[in-house]
Parts: sequence; C-alpha cells; structure tokens
Amino acid sequence: QAKAIGKNVHLRFRADMEESVTRRFTLLNDLRGAQEQGQLILLYQPMIELRTRRVIGAEALVCWDHPQHGRITPSTFIPVAEEHGLIESLGEWVLEEAVRQCSSWRTRGLTPLRLAVNVSSAQFRDAMHLRNMVDRVLRRHGYPADGLELEITERQIMRDPESGVASMKALSELGVAMSLDDFGTGYSSLGHLRDFPLRKLKIDRSFTDQIDRDPAGLAIVRAVVELARNLGMRVVAEGVERESQVGPLRTSECAEVQGFLFGAPMSAAEFERRLLRPALA
Ligand code: C2E
Ligand code: MG
Ligand code: MG
Ligand code: MG
Repeated sequence: QAKAIGKNVHLRFRADMEESVTRRFTLLNDLRGAQEQGQLILLYQPMIELRTRRVIGAEALVCWDHPQHGRITPSTFIPVAEEHGLIESLGEWVLEEAVRQCSSWRTRGLTPLRLAVNVSSAQFRDAMHLRNMVDRVLRRHGYPADGLELEITERQIMRDPESGVASMKALSELGVAMSLDDFGTGYSSLGHLRDFPLRKLKIDRSFTDQIDRDPAGLAIVRAVVELARNLGMRVVAEGVERESQVGPLRTSECAEVQGFLFGAPMSAAEFERRLLRPALA
C-alpha cells in the first residue's frame, strides 16, 4: 500500500516536473519570436506627485500577449529573457517603443510627462554600448534625456555593482536619471548607495503595504526618506492601494507615489484618455 502511494507520488512529481520543463522550453521558444510578431505590448502606470496628486510621469511595463496563453506578466518571462540572452534586444525594443509613445504625446501638446523604463543588469554589462543605444533612441524621437528615468532593481544591480556604477555614470552624463527599484529587497550596503548616482529610491511595496497598520512599517519609510534626503535623492512609494496609506506617506515627506489607488498599469490609449490633457501654454 505505502509503496503504491509512494510510486504514485513519484509519478506525479515526474509528470509535474516534465510539464514545467516543457512549459519553460516552449515559453522560451515562443519568446524568441514574440518581439518580431508584435506580441509584446507596453502598459503605463501613472507616477504621482504626492503633494499635488498630479500625474507627473508614466512607468512603462512590458507585457506579452501570447496567442495561446493570453496575457503573460513580466515577472514570468523577464527572468527567462535574462537567462537566455534575449533581454538586451527586448530591453531595446521597450525603450524605443516607450520613447516613441511619450514623444508623440509631447509633440501633440499633451501634459508633458517624465518617462520611466525598467532595465536589467545584463544591459549594464557594457556601459558605452548602453549609453550609445539610449542616446540613439532619444535622438531618433527628439526626446529630451532629462525626461527619461531608467529603473533597475536593487537585486539586479547588486549582481555586479561595479558595472552598475559605470553604466549609471555613463547614463547620467547623457542627462538620463537613475532610480533604484524595489528598494529594501536587494541587500545593497549604504556604501553602494553613496556610489550609485541615483535620483530616486523606490521603496518596495512590501514596506509601504503596512504603513497605515504597523508602526514599524512607518518607521522604515521615515528612515529611508531621511537617508535619501541626505544623499540628495527623492523617495517614491510603490504599491499604494488604500487612501489610509496616503496620510502617513505625506507626513513622511515621501515625494512620489505609484499604485492601484492612483492607477494600475493601463494601455497607452487608456492612459491618454483618462490622464492626459492639452498642456496649458
Ligand atoms: P516594478 O518595476 O517594481 O513594477 C511595479 C509592479 O508592481 C508592476 O508589476 C505593477 O503592475 C505592480 N503594481 C503597481 N502598483 C501596484 C499596487 O498598488 N498593488 C500591487 N499589488 N501591485 C502593483 P508587473 O507589471 O508585473 O511588473 C513586475 C516587474 O517586472 C517590474 O517591477 C519590473 O521589475 C519588471 N519589468 C517590467 N517591465 C520590464 C521591462 O521592460 N524590462 C525589465 N528589465 N523589467 C521589466
Ligand atoms: Mg519599476
Ligand atoms: Mg518596484
Ligand atoms: Mg517590482
């Protein structure tokens, strides 16, 4: 009896394992073609200035509309792209498309926005290559470098902090600003924070989550704001979902917020319809 159960469990385990290996394999195969076949799309999440509650920017987030599996989130396929050398070309496509979109909004005289684009550490391996690529894209669309922010997660940058510093410096020379994403989840030391030329620290949702319920959460956010101020950086709170989080964030003097309360990631068309207006002359 026990043996039979054991065998069953074993068989089921193997079947699961094979299924996930197969799935990962087809995912990878499909991903190779996704870019050319126009299956990648960008969603935009509003960046809000907390004091005025005004939309001051848009963060581009890539999604994959798979013909069979439907919409796949970046957390599923970005790691696969990173692991298999596809992230550089994917990242370049994302930057090009996001800059094209934002630049067309500006040309049409809509509310001028800052644009934030996420990048991976693999894109930081060659600082000059990245710098030239970003420069080319900006020039092609006549988009100002100081209207662009590139976000890298703390976890990603800590894989190779030295290349990170070199790339961040090269980008800063262009006039592009750098943000440290998911701050608090990636084990960077205070020494690194001083070396990275950062404009923003984006505090991870896991810290802002409990800010209205747990005094420790609030203490952490306050300490980060204070630290950032002394280093000349702005603080952004990610993942704000409830109005009750806004008060504590304001008293902490957090500069910007993002989250479902102010707007979930949405298509460019929806962003334009809901959030953009002709800019006042
Ligand atoms: P991120 O840059 O920290 O983006 C924020 C993520 O949190 C997004 O998930 C967004 O949908 C989600 N989010 C925003 N507000 C809220 C909220 O109030 N509550 C909750 N529960 N979630 C919220 P998404 O789109 O799944 O993106 C996940 C991550 O994938 C991003 O995290 C970013 O690190 C990465 N990613 C996205 N696009 C790209 C890209 O083009 N290139 C690279 N390298 N990474 C990307
Ligand atoms: Mg981000
Ligand atoms: Mg984040
Ligand atoms: Mg994140």
